[in-house]
Amino acid sequence: MKYQNTLKDDKVQCVICPRNCILKDGQEGFCHVRKNIDGEIVLTAYGYNTGLAIDPVEKKPLYQFYPQSSVLSFGTLGCNMGCQFCQNWYTTKSRDDSRLLKKTSPEEIVKIAKNYNCASVAFTYNDPVIFFEYAIDTAKLCRDYGIKTIAVTSGYINPEPSRNFFKYMDGANIDLKGFSEKFYKKNCLAHLKPVLETIKYAVNETNCWVELTTMLIDGENDTEDVIKRECEWILKNLGDYVPLHFSAFFPRYNFSDREATKFSTLLNAYRIAKNCGLKYVYTGNLTNIETSTTYCKNCGRPVILRNGYELLQYNLNNGRCIYCNTICDGWFT
Ligand code: SF4
Repeated sequence: MKYQNTLKDDKVQCVICPRNCILKDGQEGFCHVRKNIDGEIVLTAYGYNTGLAIDPVEKKPLYQFYPQSSVLSFGTLGCNMGCQFCQNWYTTKSRDDSRLLKKTSPEEIVKIAKNYNCASVAFTYNDPVIFFEYAIDTAKLCRDYGIKTIAVTSGYINPEPSRNFFKYMDGANIDLKGFSEKFYKKNCLAHLKPVLETIKYAVNETNCWVELTTMLIDGENDTEDVIKRECEWILKNLGDYVPLHFSAFFPRYNFSDREATKFSTLLNAYRIAKNCGLKYVYTGNLTNIETSTTYCKNCGRPVILRNGYELLQYNLNNGRCIYCNTICDGWFT
């Protein structure tokens, strides 16, 4: 499982993500945690993380994947995206390796997850694509111990590693940061097409349960036209059952002078997505019962009533609506 090309003059190309960084001996990639050491791309953060936390699965956000179960979450430093609005910039943009305080092997992570009765382990906070080997080794062990695995990712990964990555993931929240190449290029220093390819692959060709998140930034990715095009793309390429979360942005990093997303912006996007025919649409980061609830796709009654991450009512029985017996899409106990 080596995703690299050996080039002339001691250079090596990392081919995990579409940046395809060409690195001289001793040079690290855009993501900070992968480095050419004597002709091999090495994940220098392997076995180190910025800390472990236990969250409800709704915080990932995954709303239709074992609701209210506990998830052991961790990440490293660095990122392969260049988002100017990054909400986790203090770790993704940090080059201070002393912040990789916790040395935790995959075995220890699984042991901790077991001890704390976590149903899943999540690779999150920064993008697991860049700490691929650490995430996959942990995910393989999780499978051995009956623990589910979750990736929270921007989906900026090349097709071949993507196959190996999603093979070991049970759930994923993939960011679809905006629905234009212009937005990705200007605000994420990346491209839209590889992300769309990853989403199509993960939803249509793997067993991984996928939910999508678009964080809305006023004046950047929130016009009616662009949201409509995003929803139509989802309907056509994935289906109406893939959950879509519209989450609020807070001023951070190079967008610290911008305004936080207004609830009216989220609500507007929510209505557009519903009108387009998407069955499971949510708003996030600002609590509201109506728009964080899961409704039965047949009878329209609330099957998982929430206020943000908090579960208020659970009206599913074996994953079916208690009112009309229709299956709710997702993974439920
Ligand atoms: S994973 Fe890191 S080193 Fe590899 S291509 Fe992407 S940004 Fe470059």
